[in-house]
Amino acid sequence: MIRISAGSAACMGLTTNKMDAYPTTAYFLSGNSCRMGCAFCPQGNGNNQVLNRLGRVNWPDFSWDQLKAGLFQAEKNGIGRICLQSVRHDEGVYPLLELIAKLKGISNLPISLSAWIKDQEEAATLFKAGVDRISISIDVVDPLSYRQYKGGSMEERLDLLFGCAQRFPGSMSTHLICGLGESEKQALELIDRLVKAGVSVALFAFVPLKGTALAEGSPPPVDSYRRVQAGYHLLKKKKVKSELFRFADQGRLISFGISEAELIRQLSPGTAFQTSGCPGCNRPFYNERPGGMIYNYHRDLTEKERETALEMIIKSLKQQ
Ligand code: SF4
Repeated sequence: MIRISAGSAACMGLTTNKMDAYPTTAYFLSGNSCRMGCAFCPQGNGNNQVLNRLGRVNWPDFSWDQLKAGLFQAEKNGIGRICLQSVRHDEGVYPLLELIAKLKGISNLPISLSAWIKDQEEAATLFKAGVDRISISIDVVDPLSYRQYKGGSMEERLDLLFGCAQRFPGSMSTHLICGLGESEKQALELIDRLVKAGVSVALFAFVPLKGTALAEGSPPPVDSYRRVQAGYHLLKKKKVKSELFRFADQGRLISFGISEAELIRQLSPGTAFQTSGCPGCNRPFYNERPGGMIYNYHRDLTEKERETALEMIIKSLKQQ
């Protein structure tokens, strides 16, 4: 059996559920209970009531035969990548090697793997097994919050990520969650280091989930999230140097270091506000409820949505 996100399963023709949006990547999840105990994640050891969820998403079980038939259908429905997400298994990455071999046996789609790995040698083994990209999720930006919400050393995980980025250029991704005690300055300084190292950053907005230690927390303010998305976009496109960003007290971004006209020109297409991460990963409604405020657009923005996002940023910069 393998767990498949509800949206991916619908896109693969495995359920008849009508979804508000369909993914462009097929998301699979390996494992039921994670050795980590992240305070924001339902897969952690202490969160047994909500193990069917990762982020806001449900992950029902399917057989390999169903998956095989579904992948054929998925490619016809516009799926261009497989994302295999994994809990931290007791046996390390070995269960993943078997899964990857099976996936490679039935599909030519590129595979992104999001998993806990212990060193560069494990990354090398996984790339040799056929994965296209590996995400080492940092998740929490502020070092103190990292220790509190994930445990362990953030610097060690960053060293591994940067080491892998050097050894496997253009093949590494990471996940960062905004709204876990970091400032915009901290988020953009880390993003700048990651962009310079060639790591793709998948930005998430924190979602308080029932059954987790942070169930009573709050998502980040949307205007703050938009400023981080915009800063990431400008750094990625090399439209500005991070040294030009200016921050007020508590690390709130107050200037991108470019004129308003140039900022509007760069952000008008709306790409900055779409889901980021591996190529083709759109994660529909991973952070938000359909019909509610959208943090990461899984599709092109409408003209109205582009205007609203841009206005929010411009207005917030004037409220210094
Ligand atoms: S960015 Fe998307 S495809 Fe890449 S590892 Fe994360 S969820 Fe998977």
